[in-house]
Amino acid sequence: MEIANVFENNENWIAAKLDKDPNYFKNLAKGQNPDILYIGCADSRVSAEDLMGVQPGEVFVHRNIANMVISIDLNAMSVLTYAVDNLKVDHVVVCGHYLCGGVKAAMDAADLGILNPWLRNIRDVYRIHKNELNAIEDETLKYNRLVELNVQEQCVNLLKTAVVQKAVRNRGMKIHGWVFDVSTGRLIDLKIDFKAALKEITEIYDLGGMNIDSLTIDE
Ligand SMILES: [Zn+2]
Repeated sequence: MEIANVFENNENWIAAKLDKDPNYFKNLAKGQNPDILYIGCADSRVSAEDLMGVQPGEVFVHRNIANMVISIDLNAMSVLTYAVDNLKVDHVVVCGHYLCGGVKAAMDAADLGILNPWLRNIRDVYRIHKNELNAIEDETLKYNRLVELNVQEQCVNLLKTAVVQKAVRNRGMKIHGWVFDVSTGRLIDLKIDFKAALKEITEIYDLGGMNIDSLTIDE
């Protein structure tokens, strides 16, 4: 890809959009009303809209290294709060991907400078699920499983926030954990059993009577 081609590509894209719908950009300018907040990895191979087959205006997107949801990350928490409270999305998705460089880096013993505190959050996921992961001998399978468990833990981190707890309780907002398989292009729904995961932690993280038994998450 040549950087010089970008603006030419943009002109072609505009022409293609207007060819299908002369009012395309006029309508786009009217505002956004996305149904989904997508939290994914910054990896260049995992482009949110493309893999879901959606158009501009349909998905609110936040991406960072290894699709993390960290409570003191002002960026992620601002995106989450705006999407849930203002845009009133019906679904929040955490989408990880196999062959994730961030997850791989967290599996290796290496000092990566400023990345250390970020990757430590993935190492924490490893620690929580150490018994299951250490029982997997095949390194690729172990790597894949850590990608999946990281998605699960980031979904749990979403459920630890007051903004998500309120939206789940008051208007049935749903949380989903997905993994994108870079080598096949397939999007996989992990069908995480949040009720089971939450039963364990609700006693500690409930920020106002979430009533886990009445929840219908990811159904
Ligand atoms: Zn990644």
